[in-house]
Amino acid sequence: MRVGFIGLGTMGSHMALHVREAGHELVVNDLRRDAAAPHLKAGASWADTAREIGAQSEIVFTSLPGPREVETLAGELIETMRPGTAWFDLSTNSPTVVRALHDRLAAKDIAFLDAPVSGGPLGAKSGQLALWIGGDRTVFERCRFVLDAIGDQVSYIGEIGAGSVAKLVHNCAGYAIQTALAEVFTLGVKAGVDPLALWAAVRQGAVGRQRTFDRLGRQFLQGSFDQPAFALSLAHKDVTLATQLAREIGVPMRIADLTHAEMTEALNRGWGNRDSRIPMLLQQERAGVAIKVPTEAIDKILESDD
Ligand code: NAD
Repeated sequence: MRVGFIGLGTMGSHMALHVREAGHELVVNDLRRDAAAPHLKAGASWADTAREIGAQSEIVFTSLPGPREVETLAGELIETMRPGTAWFDLSTNSPTVVRALHDRLAAKDIAFLDAPVSGGPLGAKSGQLALWIGGDRTVFERCRFVLDAIGDQVSYIGEIGAGSVAKLVHNCAGYAIQTALAEVFTLGVKAGVDPLALWAAVRQGAVGRQRTFDRLGRQFLQGSFDQPAFALSLAHKDVTLATQLAREIGVPMRIADLTHAEMTEALNRGWGNRDSRIPMLLQQERAGVAIKVPTEAIDKILESDD
């Protein structure tokens, strides 16, 4: 494949090198020409403009800061990319923007797919990287062997924009959890526990040992809260004790106070003897969504990791 790659930054530099290492012809561009030094050394060629990349490539990849940069380049690429070619945007982008670009390019028979990545610079370098693809499934299948050169967890998520939605869900979860962890950890340290001892302890607890999103599999995704693995009334007591402790020693607990209020609201629905994940139903109500995934489908995904 003749591959064009625009954006040789922290992520793009490694990803483009992997494409070259897999034996594809590679033409690269970045605002900073010096960023291309390792690629040129590995046999890639340089293009001065996105227009040139578009004219020369069967597949174009972009790894750019965000929607504004991708939209700007689209104006150039759309002029020169040929019908039947494909553009995978590896940037973290807006689902609305990628859907609009998809439609604009489809009018010229150019496939646009969103393909945000997750794994950080170390993952980009080692190839332990997830790629979440949204767009035309046939184009995805056709180009998959090139995507496999970039990451070891390439998956098709759904229609255009689905990859970006998955990426935003993932990163927003990460930073919301980060905020909650900062809160509970300052509580623990101000309450007198050595930070290293605290960290060593909690990372081996029930929450610590479980993969973050696997937590959703049993109750929330299945819409099954009636068999309590841990009853809401007991969990409510624990969060009450933690937030009381925080008040005693003067630690503001924005996220924990909100969590406590959610759990109290759930208790007031009469859900005390149901599973402690049941406050998550309140958010489904507010969001206007009802989630119910068959157990077998969840098990199949969990088992595929083994
Ligand atoms: P970066 O700023 O290091 O790289 C962006 C590159 O794009 C730079 O080299 C810049 O010179 C180039 N660029 C900007 N505008 C351009 C233009 N008009 N033409 C050509 N080149 C242009 O950013 P990054 O950390 O590599 O992230 C790239 C994308 O990947 C972002 O959307 C980011 O959100 C996403 N991402 C980053 C990480 C991470 O850990 N860094 C992880 C996953 C996803």
